[in-house]
Amino acid sequence: MPLVIFDIDGTLTQTTNADANCFVRSLAEVCGFREVDTDWSGYKHATDSGVFHEIHQDRTGRPPSAFEISRFRQHFVGLLAQMSYEAPFTAVRGASLLLSRLAGKAEHRVALATGAWRDSARLKMACAGLCYDHYPAASSDDALDRDSIIRRSIERAAERYGRPDSTVYVGDGVWDARACRSVGIPFIGIGAGSQATRLSAAGAVSVFPDFSDADMFLSSVHEIAAWPNQGAPVNQAGAPWLQFERSASRIAELGSLGRKAEKESRGKVDNVPMDSEREAETISFLPRLSASRFRGCGYSGAKPNTHSSGRGPAGISTRK
Ligand SMILES: [Mg+2]
Repeated sequence: MPLVIFDIDGTLTQTTNADANCFVRSLAEVCGFREVDTDWSGYKHATDSGVFHEIHQDRTGRPPSAFEISRFRQHFVGLLAQMSYEAPFTAVRGASLLLSRLAGKAEHRVALATGAWRDSARLKMACAGLCYDHYPAASSDDALDRDSIIRRSIERAAERYGRPDSTVYVGDGVWDARACRSVGIPFIGIGAGSQATRLSAAGAVSVFPDFSDADMFLSSVHEIAAWPNQGAPVNQAGAPWLQFERSASRIAELGSLGRKAEKESRGKVDNVPMDSEREAETISFLPRLSASRFRGCGYSGAKPNTHSSGRGPAGISTRK
């Protein structure tokens, strides 16, 4: 059966900007690092641990100590908790229903692989009504680089579910596409407008604006699972990817499937033709969820920081 691995920020939860703002604020408030480049795609590893290590190395000439990492991380998660109380995080459209649907069937298995630190990921999912601890998962606690994080997630999923017939990763960043290429698994993008174009150019087999059309999304997963050589051990990466690259016609076909899904889901949601302005707002009108959604979702930890109520710098558009 297919294993579907999800990224979290920007894929399952609408936390991209909040996460970036809290990260940048923490760099300034804890470390005194200001004027940070927030184009995370330019960093060697677009993960919490990877970005922090790289910035710390650049600014101080040495990697952060365990204490410095812990202090930064604690402050960062505290800011996220504070922000979540002010404006609760929400799930990407259709994500909650899709995960519930996947959990109710034996046709798929689900795992998580996130560039966020585990406590950050758990908080964001819990606030959005999703449960991090329900799934085999790997995070920035496991490695600096996303390739290793994805591999660790696959290992943990295999320990729980057994070896999958096929594996696909779902994410919203160009770094997700790069990591999938390195690991040797297909990549489905989540994004709209120009971001969808970037994801497609980076190698996404298909791109969806969100999960509002679960049937179409799962059709894409099944199409990919039917490709030859899917399910090969990921430590033999290269062979599956070579096979993947030979399937250019299938990539084009599935790309069309994704674009068709985008148009159809847009029509269902908005009942108006898709245009560029509204396309950029695909997931902007989700209902706010109350903080009570924390209950029962595995998050019981961080209290919000209380020393400031600012929302951090503006203009940050991308995040791990
Ligand atoms: Mg992401």
